[in-house]
Amino acid sequence: MNNVQNYYDTIVIGGGHAGCEAARASAQLGAKTALITMHRDNIGTLSCNPSIGGLGKGHLVREIDAMGGLIGHIGDKAAIHYRLLNRRKGPAVRGVRAQICRRNYHHYMFSHLRSIENLTLLYAEVVNIENIDAAMKTICTHDGLKYPCNAVILTTGTFLNGRVFIGNQSYEAGRIDEKASCSLRQTLSSINLQLNRLSTGTPPRLDGKSIDWSQLQPQPTDIEPKFLSFQTQKVQLEQRTCYITYTNSQSHQILHDNLHTSPKYSGLASSNAPRYCPSMEDKIMRFPERKQHQIFLEPESLYDDVIYPNGISMSVPADIQMQFLQTISGLENVVMIKPGYRVEYDFVDPRQLNGDLSCKTVQGLFLAGQINGTTGYEEAAAQGLIAGANAALYCQKKQSLLINRAEGYIGVMIDDLTTKGASEPYRMFTSRAEFRLSLSCDNADLRLLPKADAIGLITAERREQYRKDAHVYKELLQKLDTVYFSPHTIQKKCPDIQLSTDGKKRNVLEWLARANFTMEHLKKIYPDIDAVSDKHIHRLEADALYSPYLEKQKMDIHRLKKDESVIIPKNVNYKAIHGLCNELNEKLSRLKPQNIAQASRIEGMTPAGLLLLLSHVKKEYPT
Ligand code: FAD
Repeated sequence: MNNVQNYYDTIVIGGGHAGCEAARASAQLGAKTALITMHRDNIGTLSCNPSIGGLGKGHLVREIDAMGGLIGHIGDKAAIHYRLLNRRKGPAVRGVRAQICRRNYHHYMFSHLRSIENLTLLYAEVVNIENIDAAMKTICTHDGLKYPCNAVILTTGTFLNGRVFIGNQSYEAGRIDEKASCSLRQTLSSINLQLNRLSTGTPPRLDGKSIDWSQLQPQPTDIEPKFLSFQTQKVQLEQRTCYITYTNSQSHQILHDNLHTSPKYSGLASSNAPRYCPSMEDKIMRFPERKQHQIFLEPESLYDDVIYPNGISMSVPADIQMQFLQTISGLENVVMIKPGYRVEYDFVDPRQLNGDLSCKTVQGLFLAGQINGTTGYEEAAAQGLIAGANAALYCQKKQSLLINRAEGYIGVMIDDLTTKGASEPYRMFTSRAEFRLSLSCDNADLRLLPKADAIGLITAERREQYRKDAHVYKELLQKLDTVYFSPHTIQKKCPDIQLSTDGKKRNVLEWLARANFTMEHLKKIYPDIDAVSDKHIHRLEADALYSPYLEKQKMDIHRLKKDESVIIPKNVNYKAIHGLCNELNEKLSRLKPQNIAQASRIEGMTPAGLLLLLSHVKKEYPT
């Protein structure tokens, strides 16, 4: 039997969030693409919380959307509850978040991928990649089939040597009830990729029918929701309410008494988990003064009663989890559908990757998602899009798609990973971006869509919508530039506002640039603004408020671009740089930064070290 199958330009291994975006991006750029994943039904699975977006993560979703990606658009199709986070803070750091119906998300993601012409979906476990470091590689599946290809994108998530822990039980698995991927480690070791272990956890799942909702505080969906995608115009599904309850001293005591049964505290699972998303066991140890912790009870689907109790990830034995739950208001008689657990997995040190997510030492090998040390659907999806596009560009011998730190959170994340690595699961926060005032959710398409369009990532329909939006927004700005109000007029209609008394008339944009003048004030003095669509209002608010700061940021961005243009050749002999300390010498030789900007962000880099490097590069490798 001839077990060699059709050739593909790109093969994506894994159908999680990174894999789905990677497959779409590669296929969209015209590469003949296959997505091989273990099971049809786990395409686009939300492994942990049934929500997309949030602080920092919402920015990533909008950026992916601006580049033609799927997570925002499909997230909105499956959304059953919306909430804008940081509503009271400045528009640059507000986060769009939606609760997602798991079943619909999978269904729409699968249907979308199926509809892409040059994308084939295959269901198997990939057990080896033959000739991984050659130009033509062969993907081998557990059923003995072989698929030759030019580029491979690995997106194995929590499955690479995955091991699940509940109390003192532990077994090989990528997620609870799902087989781990164990053979691929050998393939990666054969090319000397440095692998480490990380872990993450999830809470028990509850039967909503057994919860006493009457005792709990409801949290309804936003009345005027902000959507995940620029393309979404309206709410698409029936909306559900979330509820809030709290742990208490009795619940904490139960965990205290049984801490020795938790895999982390018994020493059974010792790899680092996300610090900013602590398990319940970690919460009681790290914040002993806290008498209670908030729990959001979030519906997982429109089609069943499963509830996700957000905030109480834990991995003590199931019976202790049950005792813990029953101490909580509303959960006294709760039925636990699945226990919480911890999963530990292999990840690849991302400092071995370039900014296009290709491996520095192996041509045509790309990595995206949790395998690069991140956590979260949005982080995975963003990397998937970049890796997918770059795999196709690699096959077509075209220049890579790179996003820098000034262009988007995607650039910040990839740069952080490739220069600093990940000692714990990396997740996005707005505080990671030094140019965050110019990187709001609302201007993501302005920042990234033209760049994505230039290489073919955008559909004609999306391009047309962007053109229309840009035109409408430009006209709006021109109009508002000519609408003036005096402080007197404003004070009369908005007595709550404190204004300077210089008596000077200012136009709408100038007023909005003042921190205490809000959109609500504008609506009172200029009702015409009500006719403007929400998405333009949000953008206007951010653009006007930050305009005074953006000028300063432009200078910093210019400096960054200048540093990025000084390319460090791959063959630089760092040992020949006279005066460079051993530590920097070792780090630079290992990390091989691609340009001066990247070298400047290496941990421990000093201004003197950077100057030595810069003069060496300029002298030895004049352009
Ligand atoms: P995944 O979504 O894990 O998808 C990997 C895919 O690859 C799967 O479909 C798998 O079947 C497939 N696959 C793997 N190996 C092979 C192979 N050899 N052959 C074929 N197919 C293969 N995120 C948060 O933001 N916050 C959290 O608190 C959080 N907690 C989590 C808790 C748990 C228990 C788990 C499992 C995940 C948690 N996550 C959390 C992480 C989130 O689920 C992931 O970050 C995200 O799903 C990663 O996406 P990915 O595409 O990289 O991988």
